[in-house]
Amino acid sequence: MAEYEYETHDYDVVVVGAGGAGLRATLGMAEQGLRTACVTKVFPTRSHTVAAQGGIAASLSNMGPDHWQWHMYDTVKGSDWLGDTDAMEYLAREAPKAVYELEHYGVPFSRTEEGKIYQRPFGGHTTEFGEGPAVQRTCAAADRTGHAILHTLYGQSLKQKAEFYVEYFAIDLIMSDDGACTGVVCWRLDDGTIHVFNAKMVVLATGGYGRAYFSATSAHTCTGDGGGMVARAGLPLQDMEFVQFHPTGIYGSGCLITEGARGEGGYLTNSEGERFMERYAPQYKDLAPRDYVSRSMTMEIREGRGVGEKGDHIHLNLSHLPKEALAERLPGISESARIFAGVDVTKDPIPVIPTVHYNMGGIPTNYWGEVLNPTADDPNRIVPGLMAVGEAGCASVHGANRLGSNSLIDLVVFGRAAAIRAGEVVDAESPVPETNAAQVDKALDRFDSLRHADGGTPTAQLRQEMQKTMQDDAAVFRTSKTLKDGLAKMDAIAGKLDDLKVTDRSLIWNSDLMETLELTNLMPNALATIASADARHESRGAHAHEDHPERDDKTWRVHTIARMDGTNVDLSYRPIIEAALTAPDEGGIDPKKIAPKERTF
Ligand SMILES: Cc1cc2nc3c(=O)[nH]c(=O)nc-3n(C[C@H](O)[C@H](O)[C@H](O)COP(=O)(O)OP(=O)(O)OC[C@H]3O[C@@H](n4cnc5c(N)ncnc54)[C@H](O)[C@@H]3O)c2cc1C
Repeated sequence: MAEYEYETHDYDVVVVGAGGAGLRATLGMAEQGLRTACVTKVFPTRSHTVAAQGGIAASLSNMGPDHWQWHMYDTVKGSDWLGDTDAMEYLAREAPKAVYELEHYGVPFSRTEEGKIYQRPFGGHTTEFGEGPAVQRTCAAADRTGHAILHTLYGQSLKQKAEFYVEYFAIDLIMSDDGACTGVVCWRLDDGTIHVFNAKMVVLATGGYGRAYFSATSAHTCTGDGGGMVARAGLPLQDMEFVQFHPTGIYGSGCLITEGARGEGGYLTNSEGERFMERYAPQYKDLAPRDYVSRSMTMEIREGRGVGEKGDHIHLNLSHLPKEALAERLPGISESARIFAGVDVTKDPIPVIPTVHYNMGGIPTNYWGEVLNPTADDPNRIVPGLMAVGEAGCASVHGANRLGSNSLIDLVVFGRAAAIRAGEVVDAESPVPETNAAQVDKALDRFDSLRHADGGTPTAQLRQEMQKTMQDDAAVFRTSKTLKDGLAKMDAIAGKLDDLKVTDRSLIWNSDLMETLELTNLMPNALATIASADARHESRGAHAHEDHPERDDKTWRVHTIARMDGTNVDLSYRPIIEAALTAPDEGGIDPKKIAPKERTF
């Protein structure tokens, strides 16, 4: 057995992750006087949230009429009727409050002439329950909204005396013998020491797992560590087949061009110079939701109308927009286009291609962020002591497809909700759970065996095999054949985790070991994704199955629950939550308005 000494730390709450979700939760916990630690593998303001460009959705009505029920309707339709209705209502209703709170904390939003928060149009956001024109609902700080939010929340969290453990890598959860979470085991990257955090509540805010794919807009740190930890604790993942491809990743580098570029008037063209979105989505055109636009682009390329030498990408045009508007509203992407595509956006179109961007699936939770471990009898059973928020979680508000600017609002609304809930369920006076030493030893044994792994497959090689397989076989369009082949390949690839080779045995700044730990987290996320996709015999949202092209509400309006057993994935299903929080006669939405129907734009 591995011998490692460790230091223990006792807290009411430990938040793992310092992106928008983790920081909003940390701040809310600390504000209520809970002793709160935030553990993060990168410096807080380097979390992927810093890269969020376009903005954050809330029905403030600053630029024209809007209503939270219209936002809710758009979210329901965007999710292709797979989201949980209570959570979607909570998101849309609480969104304005959460944005005003951000404003008061000091987020430097762009402003209208009258000094109100500036809002821009984004895909899938409409008026009058999808009957009216597009709405300007996305609140923006130029095209650096995530950056502005992250810096503000970090400052506020420090002010509230939350304690930060920066560059600590969470290895595994500590579970009690009766199934509650009681803490987390961490490795301090800069001095190699091991730290055990005991807590009454652990909040996973570890972000997405975009790096399971070869080309992704997400940071290299987006390795699904929360999902990996949860899977190893015997807890399930939900709706993993739904992976969002953003229509406009820069061809080649995968760097993102925000949907705000189309919100500000940009449009897509094919090799014939045609604005083809007018054919696919006559009403909302380039501002149809992402799954829709990504599929339309892929169809154009397949039918021989792609641009470039290989005819394998599409053009995004911005050069008709006034130079001042580009400089004021889209300065960041103008720079990205210059650096990563060598394009001057005031003159030439940007070469773009659908690129992996967001994970709708994740750790199942209710709308308070409490993690669920469903059984047939109790589909909403709660895991005591464990919460998940942000992209790591699945509440589920995004269902089968997320609307642009609905993630940043998800981070702050549910980060805040988790804090409100923790204020109710965490007793600041009660003792902190004692360390379950057997569980810590188990986590450290795994850590030690990876540290000394001496097989034949370097981590980087196995990671690339996984990424290429996911890219090819769990893509924008899927078929029974690609999914079956992909699943078999992924099974073999995951098997090679036993043959890994780590070359650096040290404990200080060992990036080889850290990337290996990350790979062991990416793998269960990837396996669950492709197995869940293979099993879902319909097309819904981001899951476009060519052998089952129709949506099938009778059989498939259910959440996929994936449990890992080694490299095997056991699948079961959980009903979606259809009931809203508020009855229509108390101001809630009329259920008829959000009843499933065909999804066109
Ligand atoms: C380029 C880009 C642009 C986007 N633009 C928008 C936008 O305009 N609007 C919008 O709504 N959405 C946007 N999104 C989506 C949105 O930004 C993300 O979904 C969101 O930021 C995720 O936030 P998070 O807090 O869940 O996780 P992240 O911001 O990814 O943070 C994860 C945190 O977890 C920590 N962590 C992870 N693993 C460990 C571990 N093992 N140990 C310790 N710490 C760990 C990390 O250090 C980090 O602090 C964009 C996404 C990308 C990639």
